[in-house]
Amino acid sequence: MKKKLMMIPGPTPVEQSVLDALSKETVSHLDPELVKTLKETLEDLKAVVMTENGQPFIIPGTGTLAMETTLVNSLKKGDRLLVISHGYFGDRFVEIAQGYGFEVEILASQWGKIVEVGEIAQKLKEKKYSAVTLTHVDTSTGVCAPLKDVGEVLKKFPETLFIVDGVCATGGIEERMDDWGIDVLFAGNQKAIGVPPGLANLVYSEKALERRNALGNISSYYMDVNRWLPIMREPAGGYFATHAVNMVNALHQGLKIILNEGLEERFKRHKRFALAFQTGLEELGFSILPSKEIRANTMSTVSYPSGIEDLSFREKLYENGVLVSAGKGVLAGKIFRLGHMGNITENEVVATISIIERTLSEFNYNFKLGSGIGAAESILFAK
Ligand code: PMP
Repeated sequence: MKKKLMMIPGPTPVEQSVLDALSKETVSHLDPELVKTLKETLEDLKAVVMTENGQPFIIPGTGTLAMETTLVNSLKKGDRLLVISHGYFGDRFVEIAQGYGFEVEILASQWGKIVEVGEIAQKLKEKKYSAVTLTHVDTSTGVCAPLKDVGEVLKKFPETLFIVDGVCATGGIEERMDDWGIDVLFAGNQKAIGVPPGLANLVYSEKALERRNALGNISSYYMDVNRWLPIMREPAGGYFATHAVNMVNALHQGLKIILNEGLEERFKRHKRFALAFQTGLEELGFSILPSKEIRANTMSTVSYPSGIEDLSFREKLYENGVLVSAGKGVLAGKIFRLGHMGNITENEVVATISIIERTLSEFNYNFKLGSGIGAAESILFAK
């Protein structure tokens, strides 16, 4: 079978050097080399989210574990949580919170749109919330939230924690944890960070750690950040739960790739690839769900020109060599989701658009062959 281009919004293609790191010999979690690697990885994670004094946690698990960890360490039963939801992953906070008996209120946008910052400010004035959650990029809708602006509003409510789900953004879109007043920022491995899934990566502000302490006993053992804290502060110091040592090696290499590329360069590259894809696809008659100013740079939600049916298009596209994802929830059958984050290069962008054109030409659809590629290349290779 031909090798497929995996252009889904996670997991993303993994560099060979990361796979090599993953396959290093398995050692003890107390091995001096591993201890050094974990320490460096924790520091590099802080660098990626631009924090000076944030406390990083790297815990075996996935993005969902990071979501649940954050909530269970931030609220107690009966505390009020405001969830700002731009889709499926925003809504997931509600499900988790309800399970713990937190009082959840939700400000939700129509799918493909965002909740206006003014609306959030108004809501915060009306009642006190222990925490607010915001999904930087909701992977169901391809919408990018205005983190900085929401952070500005939240600075006026110091008793409220600002929790950000960076799973589909961290390492691909700017996140200035300190400057924007973010209290907990977390990601998995498998999206813009470009590492196989398997770790929950969180960074806590001083205020978020104080909140954890103020809660006393919490209803989780494994997810209690206070149990992980001594290991994160001194990985040589002992044992809480056996770390995923091979995954730590992989993340270490993944973060090195990010920092070696340079954060500014990497964010610019993601923007360029997003623009190239979005412009090229529009030229071919597709449309991008969110309006221009709220489109994510890490992925796109793409709706079809009339006459092109979702499943048969995606199946043909796959036969031709490109894997994309189906729409979720109300968007199922109406859009496909395209990932363009992590360590992909211009080559994958060009090849994907070219294969999309070839696939379109196999349907009874009138378009100018080469027009999508032309539009994308004029952005990709602009001097
Ligand atoms: N948040 C967002 C924005 C996501 O895209 C995802 C996964 N696609 C998650 C949370 C959950 O992460 P995981 O699948 O790694 O548990």
